[in-house]
Amino acid sequence: MILVVLEHDGTRLRKGALEAITRARGLNAIAGSVAGVLIGENLSAVAEEARKYVNALYIAEVGPYTAEKWAAAAYAAQQKAGAQVVVASGSRQGRSWTPRLAFKMGAALLEDTLETSTDGSKVIATRYSFLNRVTEKQAAALPVVITAKPNTTPLAEPLGTEGSVEALSVELPAQKVEVLERVVEQKKGVSLSEATVVVTGGRGLGSPEAFAKVEELADLLGGAVGATRAVVDAGWRPYSEQVGQTGKVVQPGVYIALGVSGAVQHQAGMNKSKYIVAVNKDAEAPIFKIADYGVVGDVHQVLPALIEAAKKL
Ligand code: FAD
Repeated sequence: MILVVLEHDGTRLRKGALEAITRARGLNAIAGSVAGVLIGENLSAVAEEARKYVNALYIAEVGPYTAEKWAAAAYAAQQKAGAQVVVASGSRQGRSWTPRLAFKMGAALLEDTLETSTDGSKVIATRYSFLNRVTEKQAAALPVVITAKPNTTPLAEPLGTEGSVEALSVELPAQKVEVLERVVEQKKGVSLSEATVVVTGGRGLGSPEAFAKVEELADLLGGAVGATRAVVDAGWRPYSEQVGQTGKVVQPGVYIALGVSGAVQHQAGMNKSKYIVAVNKDAEAPIFKIADYGVVGDVHQVLPALIEAAKKL
């Protein structure tokens, strides 16, 4: 068995879970069947969806998220399944608990991988290095914990059968950190990490008010709003929208950068987008070096024209 830890939002599997399942299925030289584990609370609704993708599903009702609890639950599932390979999403959450799991298993950790393959005894993984400018290959003997870089892997389809479901009893470690309160951000529209279109505004927009038009364009295209660090640091937009080395890494089909210079730290979060469109009044701005389409012009003139064009789609 290969085990996939299935990330979810409480009601549905996240895209990262479906990517992780695809990766697990690709390692069938190690094991032909894939088990999944759902960790969290009130999991019955998402379990109905999850069992369509795996041969066996474990349910670990452990309450609200902490990295210690997730690692303990994933470890219990790994032991139960006898899995030599565990795959998870390389989301922010995945990156926080997978090192603990690898330590418990005495396993190698292949993090943020783009591709994985196997000869049956070891896993070979490709990942980016140096701000996405270099790819490197790593190999690790079993047992292995793998995280799949978000938005790099095709989404799994259901199997056409429903896997068995089993409640898992988890021995939870003494909690070193207690969660006192959890405030869920009220988001409208699609999630930035999962959006197929991202419209990002930079300092060139000149004011927080100018983002109303960025939002309008994103809405019209069914996309999400992104921001540069300059804009976030200025308090114009929330940190949750920051794209880049110290923000989110996105890989949409279309990335529209408006008044964004394209600093290397920003590029680290978006330079693998399929098509990059840039609007900047400075023809020498670095963003044009990676843009597929570019307009040299004032964003206050070009953005309303883009909105009008999007309304006609
Ligand atoms: P600027 O660099 O000021 O660019 C504004 C652009 O708008 C310019 O190119 C200008 O020509 C153009 N412009 C101005 N007016 C108009 C107009 N009217 N019409 C059209 N164009 C116009 N940055 C990130 O974004 N994400 C990160 O995660 C991140 N992490 C960092 C980590 C570290 C350790 C460090 C040191 C920096 C990091 N940065 C990050 C900051 C990064 O170096 C840049 O400072 C930042 O990306 C610049 O944001 P910007 O493009 O909005 O602003």
